[in-house]
Amino acid sequence: MTQPAPLTDEQPIRAWTDIDPKDAVSLNLAERLDITAPLNENGERCPWPWEPQQLVGAPMGQYRCGYCMAMVMAGMPHLDYSPEERTLTRENTAEVAEWCGGRRAGGANELVAFDQFGETVYARPGDTIHRDGFGEFTIRTASSASARPVPAPEAPDGPGSAQTAAGGRTEGATGTGGGER
Ligand SMILES: [Zn+2]
Repeated sequence: MTQPAPLTDEQPIRAWTDIDPKDAVSLNLAERLDITAPLNENGERCPWPWEPQQLVGAPMGQYRCGYCMAMVMAGMPHLDYSPEERTLTRENTAEVAEWCGGRRAGGANELVAFDQFGETVYARPGDTIHRDGFGEFTIRTASSASARPVPAPEAPDGPGSAQTAAGGRTEGATGTGGGER
């Protein structure tokens, strides 16, 4: 069997959870980008996430990781604050509402409503809900990607257009313009 020359020595990404703490003593995940790492609330990789899981039985409960300052639980794997986002469809409203701590809304329960900075916001089918590392949810509307082309309003700002206010006459049907020239 001929093996390809190892010109590209890129290694497959390893999951940090597959590495035992005793095998990770000399690892620094801030440098070892070939290994996954949980993110703290600011989106920074934890350089050594194996500490919390070793504190089984320690009377600490929630505490801040000494390596990345993320809030973690003693005795449990390091929490991951990676951002997450979900796109709302008409089928997953209940699931998305539970995920973001919101509730179904709308006449056909097609919306998801949740509170954001003291205001109630609504996600519609096709919108994407984004959760950052601090657990804040924001909505990216589907129409922000210019899904629907918005026709530019044709507003001829000639002096003659001001008088056609309340007449109710349909514009645009008559091809010939006014006799202005
Ligand atoms: Zn950490």
